[in-house]
Amino acid sequence: MLPAPPNIMHPGTLAIVIFVGVAIAAGVISVAVRWLNAQPKWRTLTLPGFSVEVAGSVNDAQLSNALLLALEVLQPVWPGASLKGADLHIIVMDVESWLNIAGIRVGGEQGGNRVRVGKNLSALAHELAHFFQQTRDDEIDAAHESWMSRGIWRADDVYRAALRSSP
Ligand SMILES: [Zn+2]
Repeated sequence: MLPAPPNIMHPGTLAIVIFVGVAIAAGVISVAVRWLNAQPKWRTLTLPGFSVEVAGSVNDAQLSNALLLALEVLQPVWPGASLKGADLHIIVMDVESWLNIAGIRVGGEQGGNRVRVGKNLSALAHELAHFFQQTRDDEIDAAHESWMSRGIWRADDVYRAALRSSP
């Protein structure tokens, strides 16, 4: 009778299994670290009557001023428009423009309750308008087809001019 082969791995096979295991673990860890680093670090910015979540290096007073200004210029379009309970998340970038997921250079982006604006905040009213259009009117008008007739472009102009002249 032949003795059964011992139920152990050949040392070479064992080494390969350990090597592959370690490589997979290292890959998983590096993906997790990259994912964590890509997560914005949110902080709450509280204004009279509402608060927003903010990420990025921006002066809170400057952002508060810009937000109030943006809300004010959008009132003629959306009377009573407010951010109370809106759970709005604003990411302020370190740059004025960047490439979006489609490879197009943009200075602002909006999707759901998240907006991303360039560091000078000049896109804030524009992105808030997209936000209100989506959340209040249930419309997504990425091509701005209704913006002229609804006075949204005019509101955006007023905002940009006021922002430039504010301290
Ligand atoms: Zn737009």
